[in-house]
Amino acid sequence: MNVVLMGAPGVGKGTQARYLVESRGLVHISTGDMLRAAVAGGSELGRRVEAVMAAGELVSDDLMMELVRERLQQPDAAGGWLLDGFPRTVPQAEGLAALLDDIGQAVDAVLVITAPDEEIIRRLTSRVSCRVCGKIMNRKELDPARPDVCPACGAQADPKTGEPAIYQREDDREETIRHRLEVFSTQTLAAAEALAARYPSHRIEGTGTPDEVAARVADVLG
Ligand code: AMP
Repeated sequence: MNVVLMGAPGVGKGTQARYLVESRGLVHISTGDMLRAAVAGGSELGRRVEAVMAAGELVSDDLMMELVRERLQQPDAAGGWLLDGFPRTVPQAEGLAALLDDIGQAVDAVLVITAPDEEIIRRLTSRVSCRVCGKIMNRKELDPARPDVCPACGAQADPKTGEPAIYQREDDREETIRHRLEVFSTQTLAAAEALAARYPSHRIEGTGTPDEVAARVADVLG
């Protein structure tokens, strides 16, 4: 099964992606994760995209198409994939459809998860991650007496650099979030419509607990 998972930043795409990947055995292709790995690794690609990502802007369609074209043709993707964070623009949606026609594949389901903007801003401004184990959590999950310690793996600051283990994503600041939401509503919703014209497409209400959203997703996927 090939699934495209779409939705505004902070709507819970990452959580639903993990559920789907585990329950359906899909390869998780998150373009945001691929780009963050390139930035963290200091590659040439990483250097090119770092400032664009920090500002909440979109990386160029050509570059994104190149990344996705290469990734979808790797052998592990042949058994089913979940695209997370791609496409985000109409040219990317059209590029994806053309690429899939080329390689004899299709999308079985496009899922668009929605939630009100204010709910998203509340969620994202309190989202933090651990540099060591990668856990993504709400600030509320931190120990108020030791907010710099990861509750999952116990990591503190890096002994060499003094960099705290718990950090907020550069693009999860309120102003940048508002900009990312605007990019979503002006560009990515149009990309969702372009895909809906070709593939089975479903809107999923993203409010409630992650399990409730997962149940809605399971309902439409059957
Ligand atoms: P995400 O983790 O999906 O929210 O992506 C983080 C950032 O990576 C975005 O705000 C963009 O700067 C960049 N990015 C990820 N996927 C795409 C895409 N399909 N097109 C353009 N930029 C992207």
